[in-house]
Amino acid sequence: MRISKLFGKTLREVPADADTVSHQLLVRTGMINQLSAGIYSYLPLGWRVLRKIENIIREEMNAAGGQEVNLPVIQPYEMWQLSGRDKALSKVLFSLHDRRERRHVLGPTHEEVITQLASRFIHSYRDLPTMLYQIQVKFRDEIRPRGGLLRVREFHMMDLYSFDVDEAGLNIAYDCMVEAYQKVFDRCGLTTMLVEADSGAIGGKDSREFMAVTESGEDEIIYCPDCNYAGNVEKAVSAKVSIDNGEPLPVEEVATPGMGTIEEVAGFLKIPHSHTLKAVFYIADGQMVFVVIRGDLEVNEIKLNNVLKATELRMATEPEVIEAGIVAGAASPVGLEGFKVVADDSVTSGTNFVAGGNKPDTHIRNVNFPRDFKADIIADIASARAGDTCHQCSGTFASTRGIELGHIFKLGTIYSEKFDASFIDEKGESHPSVMGCYGMGLGRLMAAVIELNHDDKGIIWPLSVAPYHVYICTLSREGTPVSQEAEKLYEELTAAGLEVLLDDREDSPGVKFNDADLLGIPFRVTVSPRTLEKNSVELKKRSEKESEIVPLTDIVDKLKELIGS
Ligand SMILES: [Zn+2]
Repeated sequence: MRISKLFGKTLREVPADADTVSHQLLVRTGMINQLSAGIYSYLPLGWRVLRKIENIIREEMNAAGGQEVNLPVIQPYEMWQLSGRDKALSKVLFSLHDRRERRHVLGPTHEEVITQLASRFIHSYRDLPTMLYQIQVKFRDEIRPRGGLLRVREFHMMDLYSFDVDEAGLNIAYDCMVEAYQKVFDRCGLTTMLVEADSGAIGGKDSREFMAVTESGEDEIIYCPDCNYAGNVEKAVSAKVSIDNGEPLPVEEVATPGMGTIEEVAGFLKIPHSHTLKAVFYIADGQMVFVVIRGDLEVNEIKLNNVLKATELRMATEPEVIEAGIVAGAASPVGLEGFKVVADDSVTSGTNFVAGGNKPDTHIRNVNFPRDFKADIIADIASARAGDTCHQCSGTFASTRGIELGHIFKLGTIYSEKFDASFIDEKGESHPSVMGCYGMGLGRLMAAVIELNHDDKGIIWPLSVAPYHVYICTLSREGTPVSQEAEKLYEELTAAGLEVLLDDREDSPGVKFNDADLLGIPFRVTVSPRTLEKNSVELKKRSEKESEIVPLTDIVDKLKELIGS
């Protein structure tokens, strides 16, 4: 491709709204262009990269035994009512009505559709196991699209679904997918961390995310350097150290004039935050929930939502708290009736806590569970943090950030039961298929490659996904011997099967070199009057500082060897 003919222009200016490196570089290189919030066009260079990523994924899914299908984007809304996800995903579903006023959704994921399809073709244990996948556009009406391709509303995704006769079969499919995903990321030049994850609205028992570790990631990862445990902060569990304050003592009131926060109360009584109990109020599906947790910990709303199985969870407002008759700043479950109480399991390991007295300016010493209060639910609802103790090995947690590249789930039978995807076993008995699902975002993967492979001059594409292999810089005007030699080289390399960009513009060497670096093509070949004097060209790798002079007679073979074509 000649750059003079290439659709799309490089930009010198960093776009004002681009807050991540990949967003800046994707726009500056003319690879993507925004249509509206979280909705992008891919230009020729960007589309080439996406197609290469797609091919790598397709090769690995086929090698793992997957069969490619293509499912409809438009799905009847009733399927979502049947799975119950009409509510769980209500905020992100794009929906539309057809001419008969029948409601449909634009697929954000395809568990419903694939399970119904499976129910029509899988009847016997002999039809199992099977793995089906597709690479397709998906739609999610994200509240806050951000980061260019990192969080978008229309995106390309590979989703694979496995069907097995039992849990053991599912485990094999799951491990097979872990390996296949790893191969995809390796081939795209990405190092990833496999972390425990919250299953969210997809459901199922066990789920893990592949994270590209980078500070620009929007997910926080909690991990243990000693035993290699890693979890998304939404899911990670820390060991809760017992707060031993001796044998339980009788409760006693203590005046805490004007002290409302844990900070104030602990400071006033000269005790650590961990010796207090904190009350936090939520509204879950319209109902007030009284949450109690140790004073040094924070409530993890995703864990809380999971134990409550709520569709909508939010903090209660101040007027709602007052209307419920709660004394904010001095509230505790001690002696309180009429509320659903959820306690973090931290309250069960420790003695003689200080808690609110449910009267203004009053707290209570020596509160002990379960002697002094009851809870409807006791569970881990605390956020794990760096510095906490690992629940597996008693090492110390550290934290980092990552971009979620893939999310894999052991679904079990939740969808196959609802959509009657069952099979007859050897004894003639019917069972629901045991399912797994495995999703990977292509655009996000492309953005992650840039986040992890760039310098201050631009992108440094790994060869496997680079839009072109070679960038020829012609440092002379059209019609000169230099430009004729560059043209000849362009023809020869292209004929040899290499993908070549020829910078044939009438621009200064500075502009051409800057664009070559910005676009990040792995090999740059410069043809100039100076190199031609020696019947040679200059060859430079984008990832290295030094260049070398290569004789014209050798350059084609040398590049073929380097690129492996
Ligand atoms: Zn550990």
